[in-house]
Amino acid sequence: MRTEKIQVKITGEVIIPDDLIGFFREVDDLIKHNDEVTIIESDDLIQTKFAYGGLLEEGADRFGFIYFPEENTRPQWSIELTASEIAKIVEGEKRTLTLWKCQNPNCRSFFSSESETCFDCDYIDDELEEKQRVLNMLSQSPTRESWVGGYLKHFPDAHPLGIIGDYNSQVQLGKKWGYFSLNEMQSLVEKLRDQNAT
Ligand SMILES: [Zn+2]
Repeated sequence: MRTEKIQVKITGEVIIPDDLIGFFREVDDLIKHNDEVTIIESDDLIQTKFAYGGLLEEGADRFGFIYFPEENTRPQWSIELTASEIAKIVEGEKRTLTLWKCQNPNCRSFFSSESETCFDCDYIDDELEEKQRVLNMLSQSPTRESWVGGYLKHFPDAHPLGIIGDYNSQVQLGKKWGYFSLNEMQSLVEKLRDQNAT
């Protein structure tokens, strides 16, 4: 189960990429022509290949956008701007956005506020947590055979390749006891399952 847990974010200035400036040029044009996509409240009436957005609240002039800086991957920027800020970007007066980002250095998303939720960083995955807890405990095992035995007690249906993956993810184990070949792991798993069955 995924549980939301928003981490503390940091703020900073981000240079507006060229394709995004191009998108804002289209948005600015739509606003100046009173196009209905800029008058009706929506999340996504304004769209292009790499960004979408709309008027946040009818009667006000704040717009919200989602921008995908990299094709077909998850990082996204969430941006909020007024009509006049959009005009300033188009005129070249405003070249940066003040946005929030996660402290996780691998996260490439940006947010318009610190209370937004990052899909990658702001959730706790109970199953992953549980597995990490078990792996930490198993690192105290006296032998690598007993490590695998303990692993099978918690994850009885695990595939030998999955077990090797988890074993290898604990770098200190391979250094201490050496690595498993698939054959070794398969026969060990069979042996331990037979023992557990009897
Ligand atoms: Zn993040």
